[in-house]
Amino acid sequence: MAIIGIDLGTTNSLACIYQDGKVERIPNELGEYKTSSAVSVLEDGTVLVGAAAKERLVSHPETTAASFKIWMGTEKFLTLGKRQFKPEELSALVLRQLLEDAHRYLGEPVTEAVISVPAYFNDDQRCATKLAAQLAGLTVKRLINEPSAAALYHRYRTQSGDGQRMIVDFGGGTFDVSIVDCFENIIEIISIAGDNRLGGDDIDRAIVSYFCKENRLVENQLEPSMRASLYRQAETAKIALSSAPAASISLQQGETQYSLVLSNDLLRELCQPVFQKVRTVIGRAIKDRERVGRISDVILVGGSSQLTVFGDFLEELFGRRPHLAAEPDEIVALGVGLCAGIKERAEDLQDLVMTDVCPFSLGVATYNHTGDRTPHMAILIPRSSMLPASHQERFYTLHDNQHGLRFEIYQGEGYFASENLKLGEVEVRVPPGPAGEQSAVVTFTYDIDGILHVSAKSSGGDYRDQLILNPNLHLTEEGRSKAMERIQQIQLAAQGSQRDQLLLERGLRLYTQLLGSKRDMVARIIGFWKNLMEQGDLIGREKYYTQIRDQLDWLETQAEADPLDEDFWLDEEDQDFGGYEEMED
Ligand code: ADP
Ligand code: MG
Repeated sequence: MAIIGIDLGTTNSLACIYQDGKVERIPNELGEYKTSSAVSVLEDGTVLVGAAAKERLVSHPETTAASFKIWMGTEKFLTLGKRQFKPEELSALVLRQLLEDAHRYLGEPVTEAVISVPAYFNDDQRCATKLAAQLAGLTVKRLINEPSAAALYHRYRTQSGDGQRMIVDFGGGTFDVSIVDCFENIIEIISIAGDNRLGGDDIDRAIVSYFCKENRLVENQLEPSMRASLYRQAETAKIALSSAPAASISLQQGETQYSLVLSNDLLRELCQPVFQKVRTVIGRAIKDRERVGRISDVILVGGSSQLTVFGDFLEELFGRRPHLAAEPDEIVALGVGLCAGIKERAEDLQDLVMTDVCPFSLGVATYNHTGDRTPHMAILIPRSSMLPASHQERFYTLHDNQHGLRFEIYQGEGYFASENLKLGEVEVRVPPGPAGEQSAVVTFTYDIDGILHVSAKSSGGDYRDQLILNPNLHLTEEGRSKAMERIQQIQLAAQGSQRDQLLLERGLRLYTQLLGSKRDMVARIIGFWKNLMEQGDLIGREKYYTQIRDQLDWLETQAEADPLDEDFWLDEEDQDFGGYEEMED
């Protein structure tokens, strides 16, 4: 039976299949390949998915939902009329629609799929995606990162040579940058950076808010349907600007007519905050590469990458015009279709191999000493590790006759465990004994789907193993920012003096920015300095202050060296432009 590939997008979804030696896009009932990821409940309780549902965003906003992918993995409920849905339930409805279309197109039911997720999706979000598939009656053969899928397809289509390439995916709700290293038949993702709250939707939002400001309207006081209409017009105008000098938006409220003429110059200005974030993410992707080297090409994918002002912005940033993929908003799905073909062991795809990296650091909370009240991260799998990744570490008891060792599992880049996302915990018993004598070995395995498996095994004769699978511990966005707020308060309370506190703060920030031996160096500095501060050791602080500050200053130059300033391009004549345009369909 066939395995299909699905790009379950924030804005649009699309399914592909590998058959007869090529990837095919599966059309929906309307004969279109892209299906809007929108769901609407009709009066009689039936559910609409796709373009029709998207229409109803304007006419029936209270029974329609879109962009729910951004809530995947959270506890949020979306209310559609009298019913409440979890985000994974709404995604399941989209998947069911795609499956029905595939069934009709292929003439047989489909029960297995490869599904793409944004590179930055965390463990909870990946689990929620798998759950959505389950709810739709689908077995997930593999989750694949969206930029990996795009890279895979690009490589396959263009047969381009070896070297590093940057994939910039600018969609409706997510922004992902990944750098891949192509070597012979292997595509290795050597760095991933992204922001799963950044996309074309933000540009629409900026246009709407500018419209309201110019027309002295208060957005929140507009009728829901009027607001929805504004958003739709903003999107249409934005798209039109890529082929026309200006586009207009208007709104009729009672007798009054409100309007705005949008030009590319104005759009450019409104996009600045979005582009600044784009710049940061691109810089991080360049800096996080496991291997330095020259990048031979930039490949733009995602609907929003078609924006003229976006191309202009990148051209200015890179000093050259990046390459727009031939099918920018379908290339991810095409890559997932290819991946499905690989899973099916299609003969002609046997040469294609792909590896992936872990997009964030994973570790357990650990204490420096018995008086330490603010546990920090002991990282078992650093971000950008190659997948599947597995690592073990031994931890010792801190107290005499401790009964057990409890490990809280976290994901994130903050120094303090509480700044990061808690994924779950595992506890093992240890035999009584003096502090530091008993121990446990913790093993982290991060699999090819980007899902974490944790086990712990204690020392002594009394063994106990535990395994955590998909810990269903969710922290909402609100809960997370609350937790961070709490931590910042603790830090303030612990401060000895502004000057010394600032040094610690800087160290903590640098820790989140650096990797490898430099990160280890920051960790040592933080541990040392935090200890002096906690002990109220004023003499020690005076003695070491200058030395520590100088070290942090140096590390700062390491962290702030703007990766975009570096000369990482291949010389023009050496480069391989992939040659999309040359390929015929
Ligand atoms: P996602 O991957 O988030 O589902 P897509 O890659 O399909 O999204 O991109 C959807 C986004 O692309 C929307 O914000 C839409 O407004 C925008 N978009 C689609 N076509 C164009 C275009 N021609 N020019 C500019 N933006 C576009
Ligand atoms: Mg996408």
